[in-house]
Amino acid sequence: MLSLVIPVYNEEPNMAEVCSGLRTTLDSLCFPYEIIVVDDGSKDRTFSILRGIQANDSRIKVVRLAKNCGQAYAFWAGFDISKGDVIITMDGDLQNDPADIPLFLKEIEKGFEAVNGWRHARNDSCVRKSISCLANWFIGLKTGVKLHDYGCAFMAIRRSLMDRLLSRGRGCRFIKPLIACLAQSIGEIRIRHHPRKHGNSKYSLLKIFKTGLHFALSFKARLFKRQASRFIIENPRYLGSKT
Ligand code: UDP
Ligand code: MG
Repeated sequence: MLSLVIPVYNEEPNMAEVCSGLRTTLDSLCFPYEIIVVDDGSKDRTFSILRGIQANDSRIKVVRLAKNCGQAYAFWAGFDISKGDVIITMDGDLQNDPADIPLFLKEIEKGFEAVNGWRHARNDSCVRKSISCLANWFIGLKTGVKLHDYGCAFMAIRRSLMDRLLSRGRGCRFIKPLIACLAQSIGEIRIRHHPRKHGNSKYSLLKIFKTGLHFALSFKARLFKRQASRFIIENPRYLGSKT
């Protein structure tokens, strides 16, 4: 089973197209699936639109947070109720393309515990792209895992890794660096990235700067890595794949 987890905040104009695009792709695959949309305390009509879509399709599950908690915490709320053997995370603003989902699944089938999306032709401003470049370098330094695009929300996670994330890192604001520390193996694929059609980015430069500072001061990669190796020793299931 496949679980899609999508956090949204004030994405009223995008909701119908996001859900219909996903259903078109997922219906063409031969897996049962669920689409978990987490409304991160939207102030517009996002939630009522989602309720309308949910009423006609039981595979769509809508979670509403009481207030705007931030994208990472919305992801955790979705992770908590996800049931899939593979969990796919993505943005709910049409910048990620559901047609890329089969590419993630192909990499997961190769045995990777996580597959990261890389927006190699990214449709964002030069300033945003330069900041991301610096962030990717710095996060790679801290975690010891070099990824091209730590800021991309589009990724696939196996259930084994999701269980570990939920037991060892639940609530951590920096999900991708956490995954880099706890995953046995991470693959990377180039994905499409569309320009935003409706609405604006929820991340101002000030917000990005504050998040970066918070990460630099608070994220302890070594702590998670120690937890990961202890987990491997405790669970013989994972002994083979580590060496
Ligand atoms: N988002 C959210 N809570 C927030 C901010 C953003 O759930 O507090 C969602 C947003 O609705 C979108 C995704 O996170 O689905 C990515 O946000 P955005 O497109 O603004 O980020 P960008 O693509 O500019 O990095
Ligand atoms: Mg976006």
